[in-house]
Parts: sequence; C-alpha cells; structure tokens
Amino acid sequence: MRLILLGPPGAGKGTQAEGIKKEFNIPHISTGDIFRENIKNNTELGKKAQEYMNKGLLVPDELVVDLVKDRLSKDDCKKGFLLDGFPRTIEQAKALDKELEKMNQKLDKAVNIRVSEDVLVERIVGRRICKDCKATYHIKFNPPKKEGICDKCGGELYQRDDDKEETVQNRIKVYNEQTQPLIDYYGKKDLILDINGEQEIKKVLEDIINNLKGE
Ligand code: ADP
Ligand code: AMP
Repeated sequence: MRLILLGPPGAGKGTQAEGIKKEFNIPHISTGDIFRENIKNNTELGKKAQEYMNKGLLVPDELVVDLVKDRLSKDDCKKGFLLDGFPRTIEQAKALDKELEKMNQKLDKAVNIRVSEDVLVERIVGRRICKDCKATYHIKFNPPKKEGICDKCGGELYQRDDDKEETVQNRIKVYNEQTQPLIDYYGKKDLILDINGEQEIKKVLEDIINNLKGE
C-alpha cells in the first residue's frame, strides 16, 4: 500500500499514521519527524530547517524533496509506504510523481483528514510528544496515564516549539495557501479518500482502514 496523508496541522495525521502503519505493515515517513531529529542532532539540515519551522513557514522544497527521494529508495519501502507531511506543495507533489514513475510505482490513495479550523488550534496547543519514541498525546483528548510521561516507553513528554499559539495561526495560513491545493491535485487523479477527522481517534482509524480495505 502506497499512501500519503493530507490534512491541516493538527488534523491527526501522525496519530492515525501509527494505526495505519501497523495495519498494513508499511514504514511511516514523517518529514516533520525527520527535521526534528536533525534539529536534535544539530546537523546542517536541522539548523537550516529550524529557521523556517520556528516561524511556522515551510522548509524550502529543495531541502525536502531529495530527503524524501532518498528515504523512498530504502529497502523497507519496497512493500509500500505512508508519507505524512509530504508533499506540502504542488512542486513537491510533482517531484513525488516523477520519482514514483521512475520507480515504476503508483500511489494507492491520498487520505485527506478533514477537520474544521476552529478545532485545530486547541488540538495543536494541547499536543505533547515523547522525546524518545515520538508518540503523540493530547493533554485533554488523549492524555498519558501519568502526566508528562510516555505510556509506551516511559520517555519525557514535551511541547514542540512550533506548537505555541503564536506560531499556530501562521501554520494554518501556510497550509491554506500552499498545501490545500493538493486536495484538488490528487482529486483530479481520483486518489482522494475523504475522512471525517472530527470523530474519536479510534473511529477515525476505523474509517480509514475500512475504506482502504474496500469494506
Ligand atoms: P498532525 O500530525 O496532523 O499535525 P497529530 O496527529 O499530531 O496531528 O494530532 C494533533 C493533536 O490532536 C495531538 O495532540 C493528538 O493527540 C490530537 N488528536 C489527534 N486526533 C484526534 C481526534 N480524532 N480527536 C481529538 N484529538 C485528536
Ligand atoms: P509537521 O511535523 O508535519 O507538523 O511539520 C513541522 C514543520 O516541519 C512544518 O511546519 C514545516 O516547517 C516543516 N515541514 C515538514 N514537512 C515539510 C514539507 N514536506 N515541506 C516543507 N516543510 C515541511
């Protein structure tokens, strides 16, 4: 299964990716996670990416596209993949098309998680991430059993720098201007699977999996 996840920041892409990856046994590739890992390790890429991320802007296409191409060439992607947070611009989508063509592969679906704008801010501001295993929680909607501690690995939870309220509005604006046009782009290729993201986490996953399995 070759999938991409679309939806505004806070829609639940990372949360749903966990369940989808388990169901179809495919790697979850999150460009945001890759950048955060690079920032943590103080790499050149991390330093460059951080400037944009902290302002709620997209990292330039040329820094993202090669990274994804490289990741898709790894052995574990032979059985499929789940892209989360990529593509985010029409340019990136075209680059992905080209790369898949070269690899003689096709996307199966672009899963579009729909959530209205007024719900997003509360979701993003309450998001907490595990420093070690990257699991995602929400202080109200999906809290860990013990405050500040990851249920899965015992790691410390933290709030992303770009999840502060002042950056969030800009990220939503950038999504509306640069990423939302992808719904039309993939719609024309008849690849969109529309999912109501304003349901409980479990129900959203059930809808995605049932639809992908054609039930
Ligand atoms: P994205 O990867 O699209 O930015 P996340 O998966 O990180 O979004 O989810 C954003 C926040 O909203 C997280 O704190 C997550 O726990 C919470 N969340 C995700 N899905 C739901 C849902 N269906 N209902 C309530 N909260 C949710
Ligand atoms: P995410 O974890 O998907 O919310 O991404 C966090 C931030 O990383 C975004 O706000 C962007 O600054 C950057 N980023 C992640 N993926 C991309 C991408 N495909 N293109 C450009 N910037 C990206």
